[in-house]
Amino acid sequence: MYGSTVLGYPRIGARREIKQALEAYWSGRTARDALLAAGRDERRRTWLRLAELGLTAPPSNTFSFYDQVLDTAVLVGAVPERFRGLDPLDAYFAMARGNGTLAPLRMTKWFDTNYHYIVPELDEDTPFVLHPDKPLSEWVEARDLGLDTRPVLLGPVTFLLLAKGSPLHRLPELLSVYADLLGLLAAAGVRWVQFDEPALAGDRTAEEITAAQEAYAVLGGVADRPRIVVAGYFGELREALPALARTPIEGLALDLVRGDLPADLEPLRGKTIFAGVVSGRDVWRTDPAVAATLARLAEVGEVVVSSSCSLQHVPYDLDLEPDLDPELRDRLAFAEQKVAEIVALSRGVALPPVVSAPPSVPSPFVPPVRSPYPVRAAAQAARLQLPPVPTTTIGSFPQTDDVRRARAGLAAGHLSADAYTQRIRAAIARAVHVQEDLGLDVLVHGEPERNDMVQYFAENLDGFAVTRNGWVQSYGSRCTRPPIIHADVRRPKPITLDWISYAQSLTAKPVKGMLTGPVTIVAWSFVRRDLPVRAVVEQVARALRAEVDDLVRAGAAVIQVDEPALRELLPLRVSEQDAYLAWAVDAYRYATGGVPDDVQIHTHLCYSQVEDILAAVEMLDADVTTVESARSGDVVLSAASSFSRGLGPGVYDIHSPRVPGVAEITARLSKAVAGLGGDRAWANPDCGLKTRTYAEVEAALGNLVAAARHIRTTLS
Ligand code: GLN
Ligand code: ZN
Repeated sequence: MYGSTVLGYPRIGARREIKQALEAYWSGRTARDALLAAGRDERRRTWLRLAELGLTAPPSNTFSFYDQVLDTAVLVGAVPERFRGLDPLDAYFAMARGNGTLAPLRMTKWFDTNYHYIVPELDEDTPFVLHPDKPLSEWVEARDLGLDTRPVLLGPVTFLLLAKGSPLHRLPELLSVYADLLGLLAAAGVRWVQFDEPALAGDRTAEEITAAQEAYAVLGGVADRPRIVVAGYFGELREALPALARTPIEGLALDLVRGDLPADLEPLRGKTIFAGVVSGRDVWRTDPAVAATLARLAEVGEVVVSSSCSLQHVPYDLDLEPDLDPELRDRLAFAEQKVAEIVALSRGVALPPVVSAPPSVPSPFVPPVRSPYPVRAAAQAARLQLPPVPTTTIGSFPQTDDVRRARAGLAAGHLSADAYTQRIRAAIARAVHVQEDLGLDVLVHGEPERNDMVQYFAENLDGFAVTRNGWVQSYGSRCTRPPIIHADVRRPKPITLDWISYAQSLTAKPVKGMLTGPVTIVAWSFVRRDLPVRAVVEQVARALRAEVDDLVRAGAAVIQVDEPALRELLPLRVSEQDAYLAWAVDAYRYATGGVPDDVQIHTHLCYSQVEDILAAVEMLDADVTTVESARSGDVVLSAASSFSRGLGPGVYDIHSPRVPGVAEITARLSKAVAGLGGDRAWANPDCGLKTRTYAEVEAALGNLVAAARHIRTTLS
């Protein structure tokens, strides 16, 4: 009785076929034809499956070899000067990843998801030029399979707002390219087109809303065009809703998972309403009560049941997870299952009731208050006896083939638990000895037991499930397998204690206890829906507190609790951000605040926009904070002048195989020392070293130690 659609679909391949095809092509192992064929196969599989599941209005142009924002840049000819003249596919991948000579475009988070897009760079004097081949040819591919699809395009307003410098003043020029595209699509036989405008579901100025209204008045005014649906997701459209509804566009897609039904439905009267009632952001089954929302919307317009946003943020198929506990499986829906729900809702078939885990009873959550920083700093100095500008690393050491084989062997059952422990201990010993030989001051055990800083804790805490094939694209060919938090989080037994104690037994230097923070663990997982995120973060904080206490009892003098995702759960609407930061900080302080004064707490954040939340980082109250800054150094350093605790701005870019020289590191370090003083400045790399080789790491850390020693001689 209603139509049914999704706003987008995963495209990395249910078995990561596209990842493999991309990586084979990039490494030169396969030819271009093989890559293009893999793309066609994936699109074909997806369309046929969507049709088989009964979707009435499948989308097209949701496939990408890298990123939909980059695809849009190419579509409108927004290719920076330096990439022109290259073959188009070479230019495409060079913009995404660089090519040895050319630096890539920047990459950043797609709204509040864990997906990352390529930030378009618009040269001021370059006109937009339409390159319509991708949406057109993919539409034709689907038509040849007998399907009438709706091309999905990033809308012009969001495209410009996301581009470097947000050059919204170029909207009129860009609209003429979009208008031409609409004409071409109509001529080909396209009947509906979708413009994604997630930026309009966030805070926007009155001018931006007006610009959006004018944009869709222009596009709506194109004489021969497909019908247009504008999709605003990841929040409520609020004031953008009546503005868009006033234009001649035929459809609006609403995110009814993140947002409530608008109080006033009148603006929607007569429009086609894509009702986003099935979440594209989580893995849970849909509450059957959404049927009432659909009925309510049907009173004002034609309803198409939809996902709240693209399903690209969820794994493909629950049927690929035979190991999951059946009771949990009953509560889950991945992309395929969500499509089936959408089809059921569109046919008026009631969804089965949603079962939830038994509710937990939250107890009061009050973070302890540590002594003032100067008191702690004195106690730590007395205990640790570190030199000025101490040297340390962020945690992981190179994950060698031996470590990977040991992990695979344990998982496959060829390696006994004891043999596995021996192999991991050998890896720890190697990392510790290398650090001792190089002369680092605060050592790490190297994290060989962790495949991933969140997954490892998920595997060792109650309340989490991990999947076998639940891959979600993070960027390009990179995927993660977010764990699923489905019940109350508890720590059944110590997690890191044995590894850290073993590392400490090998050296007289302090070895850092190494944990992932509560916000990061939750931000990189799928979170149960029956508790507020805040309550789940608090549960994780309690579990980590128990681990911190155990480490302290075992004699740890330094404990690092990483919080690289602190900014990732930041709400998109500014009005909600302070409240979030307050509880996120409380959770961190709960986990770390119970230690004696002479235990030094480190934290690590690894993105460059730390200046945006520096006040919150200060409130974490860690004694030492290490941050990424090798690529954005001066910004961090100038922001850091207002920072009153220890700070280690990364002086070695671990994302590159290049080994920085002593002079280069010394120059960076002396800036940090000038701003912070030798007692608060630390010398460390940008991030963990697990993707580097031992040869690179030993050379770079050797130079880091030499630079720190040199700086010390300049301090009186
Ligand atoms: N301790 C982690 C490591 O070194 C931190 C990783 C991160 O910041 N993403 O690998
Ligand atoms: Zn990092």
